[in-house]
Amino acid sequence: MNGLMMDMPLLISDLIRHADRHHGDTEIVSKRVEGDFHRYTYRDAHTRSRRLAKALAKLGVKMNDRVATLAWNGYRHFEIYYAVAGSGAVIHTINPRLFPEQVIYIANHAEDKVLFVDLTFVPLVEKVAASLKSVKHIVVMTDRAHMPTVTPASPMANALCYEDLIEAEDDKFEWPTFDEKTASCLCYTSGTTGNPKGVLYSHRSTMLHAYAAALPDALNLSAADAILPVVPMFHVNAWGLPYSCALMGAKLVFPGQHLDGKSLHDMFEQEKVTMSAGVPTVWLGLLNYMKEAKLKFSTLKSTVIGGSACPPAMIRTFQEEYGVKVLHAWGMTEMSPLGTVATFKGKHTGADKETKYAVQYKQGRVIFGVDMKIVDAEGKTLPNDGKAFGDLLVKGPWITNSYFKGEGGDPLRDGWFPTGDVATIDPDGYMQITDRSKDVIKSGGEWISSIDLENIAVAHPDIVEAAVIGVRHPKWDERPIVVAIKKPGAKVTKEDLLKFYEGKIAKWWMPDDVVFVDQLPHTATGKLSKLTLRGEMKDYKLPNT
Ligand code: ADP
Repeated sequence: MNGLMMDMPLLISDLIRHADRHHGDTEIVSKRVEGDFHRYTYRDAHTRSRRLAKALAKLGVKMNDRVATLAWNGYRHFEIYYAVAGSGAVIHTINPRLFPEQVIYIANHAEDKVLFVDLTFVPLVEKVAASLKSVKHIVVMTDRAHMPTVTPASPMANALCYEDLIEAEDDKFEWPTFDEKTASCLCYTSGTTGNPKGVLYSHRSTMLHAYAAALPDALNLSAADAILPVVPMFHVNAWGLPYSCALMGAKLVFPGQHLDGKSLHDMFEQEKVTMSAGVPTVWLGLLNYMKEAKLKFSTLKSTVIGGSACPPAMIRTFQEEYGVKVLHAWGMTEMSPLGTVATFKGKHTGADKETKYAVQYKQGRVIFGVDMKIVDAEGKTLPNDGKAFGDLLVKGPWITNSYFKGEGGDPLRDGWFPTGDVATIDPDGYMQITDRSKDVIKSGGEWISSIDLENIAVAHPDIVEAAVIGVRHPKWDERPIVVAIKKPGAKVTKEDLLKFYEGKIAKWWMPDDVVFVDQLPHTATGKLSKLTLRGEMKDYKLPNT
């Protein structure tokens, strides 16, 4: 016997329809590529998304067709999110920080039909356009006055103007209804090894994730919030915020390409932002700027930090010096991305400060929908005792089942998705990432966590950023070394930094060396690229070997 409830599929178009009907005058503010601020409301966004949906149909975009973007966080990108998925097509957000060859590879692999591009990325598109086999139309996300001037021979010579497309249509358009399992968005993983792989979300998975992410013990979103996603809309859909914010009716503030400390702080203050989200590298820039300029936040209450381990020192600085609560979160592209968030339980009420910090340093506990376990090399489940560590496996309705076009075969292990992370889970269900399995340092048959060693290095007052990698050792197989950037003018020596480790770790975890550098390599999503670093350090020899 079926229940007698209305049969309504979970569709992304319902989010923007809801935001229009029930939060119609709530603002969406964008710092534009053109330099100025743009302000409008969810109602305006819904109107323009419908006009864009009509324009897409005229360009020949059909159900399941892929429509790509190379764009910053902004209102036009937001409209494309809804117009494309709402029409039953698939939005493919390309990371513009990828190398041109990778952009070509994924656009061809995805068979993108239309490509929307922000003005910033016009030079990139000019470089790659001739190699994009399936793209029929390129649309520049600007108005007529700002359209780039190009030579008649340029691949951009026939590019369309975004505002012209919108102008030409009215909003007499009803979102179509279709199966909620229909694909909605496509994101490629950065592919640290091999080619990038496509993760294909559905309307159902996106909607369930949007609900779950908004919960109090997840990102704790509300209609009373003003939210500035620093995490790009080309990086796992800005962690789902463009959906969850519409679901809650929260004000959205889009920073465009202006991600430096000053621009961000100005926007936080001007738009009375209460909540934000981004990777540790971005916050590093903001905190350094604020310290130098002696600034505070007047409205910011919390920020989500994830994408790579948030150093304990950063959590403490945010909370103690700026009164901003840190939500340490973990996830991955294959998980839409949210898996765990480090929020407290009832038992922590009244707990002392250090006990609470110990909770927040971990990556957190699962939000309902996700299940997780750790296993050993034979696949045997390990205990949740906070000590045993093993491969972290996950399952849930917003977790990848297989990659686009079956790339790489079946990724699952007995119905669970292997995350490639090594972790512990404690009896209260809090998970802590020890390392990515590729980065863990194997010394004398035991494992050393590079994340733990990095966290200690960046807690030193003279260190800005640090990476710890394993280097070949004739006896121990691998030994850890610290590659670090000093603060400008700082006098810290190798010996000082090693001394700083004493008493904080087991003796055999002590790094064998410290190398100071001016820069560390980062991936297209702003994380430390240890793969590149290991390449850069390939001629390095450990002292005394
Ligand atoms: P890519 O790095 O390829 O862009 P993702 O953005 O999907 O891919 O990265 C997912 C990975 O990032 C996770 O598997 C994990 O290793 C790492 N990660 C994400 N959040 C955290 C966190 N809070 N702490 C430690 N590692 C994290």
